[in-house]
Amino acid sequence: MPIKENLAQIKKSFINPSCLLVAVTKTKPTTDIQEAYDAGIRDFGENKVQELVDKQAHLPEDIRWHMIGHLQRNKVKFLAPFVYLIHGVDSYRLLKEINKQGEKIDRVISCLLQVHIAKEESKFGFDEQELKEMLDDEFLVQLNHIKVKGLMGMATFTENKDLVRAEFKGLKTLMDKLNQMVLPETFELKEISMGMSGDYLIAQEEGSTMVRIGSAIFGSRN
Ligand SMILES: *Cc1c(COP(=O)(O)O)cnc(C)c1O
Repeated sequence: MPIKENLAQIKKSFINPSCLLVAVTKTKPTTDIQEAYDAGIRDFGENKVQELVDKQAHLPEDIRWHMIGHLQRNKVKFLAPFVYLIHGVDSYRLLKEINKQGEKIDRVISCLLQVHIAKEESKFGFDEQELKEMLDDEFLVQLNHIKVKGLMGMATFTENKDLVRAEFKGLKTLMDKLNQMVLPETFELKEISMGMSGDYLIAQEEGSTMVRIGSAIFGSRN
């Protein structure tokens, strides 16, 4: 796979050049990651804790590791010492666990709240009501080993571009709405992680600040 060429082409196509490209390397070998690293990429995303930890041990230390998949509470401790950003925080219980593990090692861990924007049933994430309930909880302000930097969402897996666009637009609107509210000091909602290989340009048009791109760089996964 011409990883370097794919990266150059993708970067060139960006509507928002300051949007962060997170290279998604799940199932791909460390040699592929090294190749993207040599082409200048420093942000890599994985969706499984074990795979992320194994790869991290074999690759340059200045890589910023993004956990993009569903995260089980009992696995937070393995990522806590080094993870750069956890994109998929989909419950208040998970956020509390991340805070607890951060506290243990005296590290503030950056997170995004995953919001359920897709029509599909299967995707994880908060809905608006659950988010509001969490924001109303008095205990939230005591979580001082997390930094909530924004929201993450995954659109419906469909050819219907209008639906995808509407879902992304909804996520941006929600973030604007949350930013009108009084939020805890640990919340600084600036980032919107949305967009993958098939829809990153639509996502950028709708205000994405981070795109998570795998197959368009590294080829399809088995
Ligand atoms: C796999 C994955 C991606 C990348 O998907 P591609 O279509 O290969 O670009 C992005 N986000 C999440 C959460 C993923 O699991």
